[in-house]
Amino acid sequence: MLFRNKKRYVVHTMGDPVLRAVAQPVGAVTPEHRQLAEKMIEVVQAFEGVGLAAPQVGESIRMVAFNLPLESMSDVPSVGEEKLLPKMPFVVINPEIISVSPDTEMRDEGCLSLPDVWVPVERPARVFFRAATIDGELIECECGGLLGRCIQHELDHLDGKLFVDRVEPAELAKVEREMRQMQRYGEKHHFHRIKVK
Ligand code: ZN
Repeated sequence: MLFRNKKRYVVHTMGDPVLRAVAQPVGAVTPEHRQLAEKMIEVVQAFEGVGLAAPQVGESIRMVAFNLPLESMSDVPSVGEEKLLPKMPFVVINPEIISVSPDTEMRDEGCLSLPDVWVPVERPARVFFRAATIDGELIECECGGLLGRCIQHELDHLDGKLFVDRVEPAELAKVEREMRQMQRYGEKHHFHRIKVK
């Protein structure tokens, strides 16, 4: 178990095989799931991330924590942003993308599992999102803006994909050194830690 010590927050980094596995669906919610959800919120806040998927903390299950600031709301907000941004942070289980918009957007993306790597990624501008909260409440809405992007990024994690898999080789070449270092470090240490104030 990763979290014996409350102050020890870790995120698994690229090179760790847990990030390449397809995560398992969550069945009935157990006290262990609730404990993991609480920890994921602590970790995503400690690392000041906007989202965190369970495989990033070493658990290959379909659970995601979102932690987007209210200020990330689009000028013309999607229904999902209006509904979900005021509820942050929260955890969902078995999230799904039902459909995506035909129009796409290019935006710089980073990931707690690939620290220091920021590259532009093209993704659909909006997604129709479905998930359950840890308390069994159904979420079903169209999400755009940073939220729509974050949902796509986090759900990729549950299928063993990383955002760099979606980047053009020419773009990726610009961060090749960081990527190589990350891969080597991840294969050896599997995670990085941060100190919490
Ligand atoms: Zn990520």
